[in-house]
Formats: sequence, structure tokens, C-alpha cells
Amino acid sequence: MAGHIRSSVTLQWALELSRAGLPDRRIAEVTGASVATVARWRQRYRPGGAPRCGGLAACPACEESALSAKPYSELLGVYLGAGYIARTKNRSWLLALFQDRRYPGLVARWQGPHG
Ligand SMILES: [Zn+2]
Repeated sequence: MAGHIRSSVTLQWALELSRAGLPDRRIAEVTGASVATVARWRQRYRPGGAPRCGGLAACPACEESALSAKPYSELLGVYLGAGYIARTKNRSWLLALFQDRRYPGLVARWQGPHG
């Protein structure tokens, strides 16, 4: 149990050091964790310590970065025009967008992996 608590504190410390810009090798030296462990923590957790969503490689929420105004505005416009958000059977979220076939350029632009 004590090891688990120490690991949690070390995890938070490592994430703070990473947020401050220290490389994994230096964080490993300071905290006593291995470099592979530090890298794994960065992949699994946001800089603030919450688990990453596992979605986009450059998720603004996980990276604590601002949304890009132009793509976000476009997406919001398409969503408000003809879209919805639904909960799937595996408890993830689905964003469905619809485009008129008369605008094949827009259809191609917003077509996702499911067509
Ligand atoms: Zn995310």
C-alpha cells in the first residue's frame, strides 16, 4: 500500500517536472523512476494528472492547449447545421455530422473513418 501511495506522489511530481519542460531522462534521475516509466506516465496522463482520453494524438484537452479557432468554428457550424452527439454501447461519445450530397467537397472534408 505504501508503495502505491509513493508511486502516486512520484507520478504527480514527474508530471509537474515534465510540464516544466524537463526531459524524461532528467525526470527519471530526480524521481528515481525509470525513463520508460516516466514516458509511460506522460502517455497515460495529462500534465495535471488526469488520465488522457486516448483519442486524438493532438487532443487540446489532454495537451492543455487552446483550440484552433478556425477548425473549431467550422466543426461547430457543421454540427449546428446537421449533427448530433450520442453515447455509444461501449460508453464512448460519437459525433455524427451530415452534409448535403450536392456539396461533395464538404462531404469529403468531413468524412470520417466510418464513411
Ligand atoms: Zn484528450
